Amino acid sequence: MSSNLLIYNSLSRTTQKFEPINPPYVGMYVCGPTVYGPAHLGHARPAVTFDLIFRYLKYLGYKVRYVRNITDVGHLEHDADEGDDKIAKKAKLENLEPMEVVQMYTEDYHKNMRLLNVLPPSIEPHASGHIIEQINLVKKILDNGYAYESNGSIYFDIKKYSEKYRYGKLSGRNVEDLLEKTRTLDGQDEKHNQCDFALWKKASPRHIMHWPSVWSEGFPGWHLECTAMSTKYLGETFDIHGGGIDLQFPHHECEIAQSVGAFGHDTVKYWVHNNMITINGKKMGKSLGNAMTLEQFFAGDHPLLEQAYSPMTVRFFILQAHYRSTLDFSNEALQASEKGLEKLLNAVKALAELKPGKTSSFSVAELEEKCFDALNNDFNTPVMISHLYDGVKHINLMKDGKETLTEEDLNKLRKLYNDLCFDIMGLLYENTSSDANSGNSKIIGNLVDMIQQLRKEAKANKDYALSDKLRDDLKNAGVTIKDTRDGYEWSI
Ligand code: ZN
Repeated sequence: MSSNLLIYNSLSRTTQKFEPINPPYVGMYVCGPTVYGPAHLGHARPAVTFDLIFRYLKYLGYKVRYVRNITDVGHLEHDADEGDDKIAKKAKLENLEPMEVVQMYTEDYHKNMRLLNVLPPSIEPHASGHIIEQINLVKKILDNGYAYESNGSIYFDIKKYSEKYRYGKLSGRNVEDLLEKTRTLDGQDEKHNQCDFALWKKASPRHIMHWPSVWSEGFPGWHLECTAMSTKYLGETFDIHGGGIDLQFPHHECEIAQSVGAFGHDTVKYWVHNNMITINGKKMGKSLGNAMTLEQFFAGDHPLLEQAYSPMTVRFFILQAHYRSTLDFSNEALQASEKGLEKLLNAVKALAELKPGKTSSFSVAELEEKCFDALNNDFNTPVMISHLYDGVKHINLMKDGKETLTEEDLNKLRKLYNDLCFDIMGLLYENTSSDANSGNSKIIGNLVDMIQQLRKEAKANKDYALSDKLRDDLKNAGVTIKDTRDGYEWSI
């Protein structure tokens, strides 16, 4: 099969025709979340970007195997192989098992992805479930001479690698500059060169997550998991590797070095990176006080937010920018997206009700071509959406009886909007915020009263298990009950 899809490759820095290695199969690997805290706004953009790509490739007829990992071990606080494991640190802080932290935040991530209507990947492997594969990869790299052992840890040897290959080709870094910095080393370091990165780290006594290996009781370096899991599930060469542009260096650069070091060749045909988000023009970060969880965003529960923004508003907002542009979250821009989405979906609803005429006063085929040309041009959703709005003008004129389409064209237009809005962009109809504040919340209130009455009866019968179960079921449904002295309070 063939398509006219063009895709930007971060490695060649050019836009190329998309030609999968083994059509109709497409292998796509995307770096997933490190699950040590609630899903935040920064998670939404790569998830929605690669969901669109996943959906569109499937729409074109490709059989896509989409692998998105869960990082649950080895991601240290600093890129320079230092500091605590982010998950272990959280576990210590909250007195939990590391795997409890992983379970809790994986569930939170999934819940938020469902709200954003992000399809689950075909495979979602955990780093901790692939320690053997990672150890085998370290052995391969060692056997090929691109790594060395130092005090029970294994490091990738950038200097040795650079004699034959180009480290830095993805991020455009100059390896001489990177190696230059090594002269400042005081000889105390385990590494030969500062830019060498850990493949395996010997665990210190305070490190709680560790596994046995021939070198030491330790844990794999962060970069290793993606090389191990992508090649395990997609083979030694596959089509697309994606992630946020912040992962380009060092993470993806190291992945390339590991692949070449282990297999003797690159494993990825197209490197695809989504750009970053900013909040009111500033980088997002905990220290900047503007880091927002998705839950806060959907509830409007943050000082920077003037209101709640629904998951579909966030999704549509992300799609209104090209994935390679930066995207600034501001109340003004989001409110515009909210209105824009409503206008678009109202037109889709109106389209279903329209009656055909005898002639067509505009060309549906032309509109269709423009929309798909935009998508085929490196997934240019903002241009595609602008064409959809051109179509909305026609739909509104048809509603007023000022334009018409034949039955065939009308059906074509309906299919076009359904395919683009729902199948490809992954939009959904949502209750508007005014519903939540009025009718619906009254109904929910009545239901909560009913369930509270059942809880009261259960308590009177000393069936505390049932009473607690009802409270927990409500919580799972999104309603939190707080028993007070005078009765109870509830919140969504
Ligand atoms: Zn990765």
